Amino acid sequence: MATKTQTKKVHCGICRDWEIKNPERCSNTLIHKRKRLYFCTRKCKERFMKSPEKFL
Ligand SMILES: [Zn+2]
Repeated sequence: MATKTQTKKVHCGICRDWEIKNPERCSNTLIHKRKRLYFCTRKCKERFMKSPEKFL
């Protein structure tokens, strides 16, 4: 059995179903309460910044 649990999936903070394929290359990121969040587009990031409590 191949137990490679290093690759944990990262999803957009707004569209939860949207998987970020290359989080290390994602430029739409944000540190919120010491946690790094990823977004599929800048629009999602902006939406989160406007009302973060809605998406947590
Ligand atoms: Zn998104």
